[in-house]
Amino acid sequence: MHCPFCGEADTKVIDSRLVAEGDQVRRRRECLSCRERFTTFESAELVMPRVVKQDGTRQPFDEEKLRSGLMKALEKRPVSIEAIDAALNRIRFRLRATGEREVKSMQLGEEVMTELRQLDKVAYVRFASVYRSFQDINEFKEEIERLSVSSGEDPVDVAKVLADNHSTKGKA
Ligand SMILES: [Zn+2]
Repeated sequence: MHCPFCGEADTKVIDSRLVAEGDQVRRRRECLSCRERFTTFESAELVMPRVVKQDGTRQPFDEEKLRSGLMKALEKRPVSIEAIDAALNRIRFRLRATGEREVKSMQLGEEVMTELRQLDKVAYVRFASVYRSFQDINEFKEEIERLSVSSGEDPVDVAKVLADNHSTKGKA
Protein backbone atom coordinates (compact mmCIF):
# COMPACT_ATOMS: atom_id res chain seq x y z
CA MET A 1 0.00 0.00 0.00
CA HIS A 2 1.36 3.41 -1.02
CA CYS A 3 2.37 5.93 1.59
CA PRO A 4 -0.35 8.62 1.73
CA PHE A 5 2.28 11.28 2.45
CA CYS A 6 4.91 10.73 -0.23
CA GLY A 7 3.48 7.97 -2.42
CA GLU A 8 6.29 5.54 -1.73
CA ALA A 9 5.27 1.97 -2.49
CA ASP A 10 7.15 0.30 0.34
CA THR A 11 5.65 0.62 3.78
CA LYS A 12 6.38 -1.51 6.79
CA VAL A 13 3.77 -2.89 9.20
CA ILE A 14 4.93 -1.99 12.70
CA ASP A 15 1.87 -3.12 14.63
CA SER A 16 -1.12 -5.29 13.83
CA ARG A 17 -4.12 -6.05 15.99
CA LEU A 18 -7.68 -7.27 15.76
CA VAL A 19 -10.40 -4.71 16.37
CA ALA A 20 -14.19 -4.56 16.09
CA GLU A 21 -14.51 -7.89 17.90
CA GLY A 22 -12.13 -9.56 15.51
CA ASP A 23 -13.88 -8.46 12.33
CA GLN A 24 -11.18 -5.96 11.47
CA VAL A 25 -7.41 -5.80 11.46
CA ARG A 26 -5.87 -2.50 12.41
CA ARG A 27 -2.36 -2.05 11.07
CA ARG A 28 0.08 0.66 11.98
CA ARG A 29 2.48 1.27 9.10
CA GLU A 30 5.61 3.24 8.59
CA CYS A 31 6.80 4.58 5.28
CA LEU A 32 10.31 3.37 4.44
CA SER A 33 10.99 6.58 2.55
CA CYS A 34 9.60 9.53 4.57
CA ARG A 35 9.16 7.67 7.87
CA GLU A 36 5.64 8.97 8.33
CA ARG A 37 3.30 6.64 10.12
CA PHE A 38 -0.29 5.88 9.26
CA THR A 39 -3.03 3.39 10.09
CA THR A 40 -5.00 1.07 7.86
CA PHE A 41 -8.08 -1.00 8.64
CA GLU A 42 -8.72 -4.21 6.85
CA SER A 43 -11.99 -6.12 6.85
CA ALA A 44 -13.53 -8.77 4.68
CA GLU A 45 -15.75 -7.35 1.98
CA LEU A 46 -19.13 -8.90 2.56
CA VAL A 47 -20.91 -8.14 -0.62
CA MET A 48 -24.39 -9.51 -0.92
CA PRO A 49 -25.77 -10.18 -4.36
CA ARG A 50 -28.48 -7.89 -5.61
CA VAL A 51 -31.99 -9.26 -5.80
CA VAL A 52 -33.74 -9.55 -9.14
CA LYS A 53 -37.49 -9.36 -8.74
CA GLN A 54 -39.90 -11.21 -10.96
CA ASP A 55 -40.64 -8.09 -12.99
CA GLY A 56 -36.92 -7.77 -13.69
CA THR A 57 -36.23 -4.83 -11.39
CA ARG A 58 -33.11 -5.00 -9.22
CA GLN A 59 -32.92 -4.18 -5.55
CA PRO A 60 -30.13 -4.21 -3.04
CA PHE A 61 -30.21 -7.15 -0.68
CA ASP A 62 -32.34 -6.02 2.25
CA GLU A 63 -31.42 -7.79 5.45
CA GLU A 64 -34.17 -6.10 7.47
CA LYS A 65 -36.80 -7.12 4.98
CA LEU A 66 -35.58 -10.71 5.13
CA ARG A 67 -35.62 -10.63 8.93
CA SER A 68 -39.11 -9.16 9.13
CA GLY A 69 -40.37 -11.78 6.67
CA LEU A 70 -39.03 -14.53 8.91
CA MET A 71 -40.33 -12.86 12.07
CA LYS A 72 -43.78 -12.47 10.59
CA ALA A 73 -43.95 -16.16 9.68
CA LEU A 74 -42.68 -17.06 13.15
CA GLU A 75 -45.04 -14.77 15.03
CA LYS A 76 -46.13 -16.35 18.32
CA ARG A 77 -44.16 -19.49 17.55
CA PRO A 78 -41.76 -21.12 20.03
CA VAL A 79 -38.57 -20.16 18.18
CA SER A 80 -35.78 -18.16 19.83
CA ILE A 81 -34.25 -15.03 18.38
CA GLU A 82 -30.90 -16.87 18.38
CA ALA A 83 -32.34 -19.55 16.14
CA ILE A 84 -33.71 -16.86 13.80
CA ASP A 85 -30.35 -15.09 13.69
CA ALA A 86 -28.61 -18.36 12.94
CA ALA A 87 -31.05 -19.00 10.10
CA LEU A 88 -30.40 -15.52 8.71
CA ASN A 89 -26.67 -16.12 8.88
CA ARG A 90 -26.99 -19.37 6.96
CA ILE A 91 -29.09 -17.68 4.29
CA ARG A 92 -26.54 -14.87 3.90
CA PHE A 93 -23.71 -17.34 3.80
CA ARG A 94 -25.33 -19.46 1.09
CA LEU A 95 -26.20 -16.43 -1.02
CA ARG A 96 -22.64 -15.15 -0.87
CA ALA A 97 -21.32 -18.63 -1.51
CA THR A 98 -23.10 -18.65 -4.88
CA GLY A 99 -20.51 -16.09 -5.97
CA GLU A 100 -23.22 -14.49 -8.09
CA ARG A 101 -23.67 -10.74 -8.21
CA GLU A 102 -27.40 -11.13 -8.58
CA VAL A 103 -29.89 -13.68 -7.30
CA LYS A 104 -33.53 -14.13 -8.20
CA SER A 105 -36.04 -13.16 -5.52
CA MET A 106 -37.48 -16.64 -6.01
CA GLN A 107 -34.18 -18.17 -4.92
CA LEU A 108 -34.21 -15.99 -1.83
CA GLY A 109 -37.72 -17.23 -1.04
CA GLU A 110 -36.60 -20.82 -1.43
CA GLU A 111 -33.76 -20.19 1.01
CA VAL A 112 -36.22 -18.82 3.55
CA MET A 113 -38.45 -21.85 3.12
CA THR A 114 -35.50 -24.20 3.58
CA GLU A 115 -34.79 -22.58 6.94
CA LEU A 116 -38.41 -22.36 8.08
CA ARG A 117 -38.96 -26.01 7.24
CA GLN A 118 -36.28 -26.80 9.85
CA LEU A 119 -37.30 -24.19 12.40
CA ASP A 120 -41.04 -24.51 12.61
CA LYS A 121 -43.55 -26.20 10.38
CA VAL A 122 -46.42 -23.85 11.12
CA ALA A 123 -44.23 -20.89 10.14
CA TYR A 124 -43.22 -22.78 7.04
CA VAL A 125 -46.83 -23.29 6.07
CA ARG A 126 -47.60 -19.60 6.67
CA PHE A 127 -44.71 -18.43 4.55
CA ALA A 128 -45.02 -20.98 1.79
CA SER A 129 -48.75 -20.47 1.40
CA VAL A 130 -48.18 -16.79 0.69
CA TYR A 131 -44.95 -17.16 -1.21
CA ARG A 132 -45.42 -20.18 -3.35
CA SER A 133 -48.60 -20.62 -5.27
CA PHE A 134 -49.32 -24.28 -4.93
CA GLN A 135 -51.41 -25.83 -7.66
CA ASP A 136 -54.01 -26.71 -5.12
CA ILE A 137 -54.33 -27.04 -1.38
CA ASN A 138 -53.98 -30.83 -1.54
CA GLU A 139 -50.54 -30.64 -3.06
CA PHE A 140 -49.55 -28.42 -0.18
CA LYS A 141 -51.11 -30.70 2.42
CA GLU A 142 -49.25 -33.65 0.99
CA GLU A 143 -45.93 -31.89 1.33
CA ILE A 144 -46.62 -30.93 4.93
CA GLU A 145 -47.73 -34.45 5.75
CA ARG A 146 -44.54 -35.82 4.25
CA LEU A 147 -42.51 -33.42 6.40
CA SER A 148 -44.40 -34.38 9.54
CA VAL A 149 -44.00 -38.09 8.92
CA SER A 150 -40.27 -37.78 8.22
CA SER A 151 -39.67 -35.74 11.37
CA GLY A 152 -41.89 -37.94 13.53
CA GLU A 153 -43.80 -34.92 14.83
CA ASP A 154 -47.50 -34.41 15.10
CA PRO A 155 -48.91 -33.42 11.75
CA VAL A 156 -49.57 -29.73 11.20
CA ASP A 157 -53.17 -28.89 10.52
CA VAL A 158 -52.62 -27.05 7.25
CA ALA A 159 -56.20 -25.94 6.83
CA LYS A 160 -56.25 -24.44 10.31
CA VAL A 161 -52.96 -22.57 9.89
CA LEU A 162 -54.12 -21.17 6.58
CA ALA A 163 -57.45 -20.11 8.07
CA ASP A 164 -55.68 -18.42 11.01
CA ASN A 165 -53.24 -16.80 8.64
CA HIS A 166 -56.09 -15.45 6.59
CA SER A 167 -58.02 -14.08 9.56
CA THR A 168 -54.88 -12.39 10.94
CA LYS A 169 -54.34 -10.67 7.63
CA GLY A 170 -57.95 -9.59 7.54
CA LYS A 171 -57.58 -7.86 10.89
CA ALA A 172 -54.35 -6.13 10.01
ZN1 LIG B 1 6.21 8.30 2.73
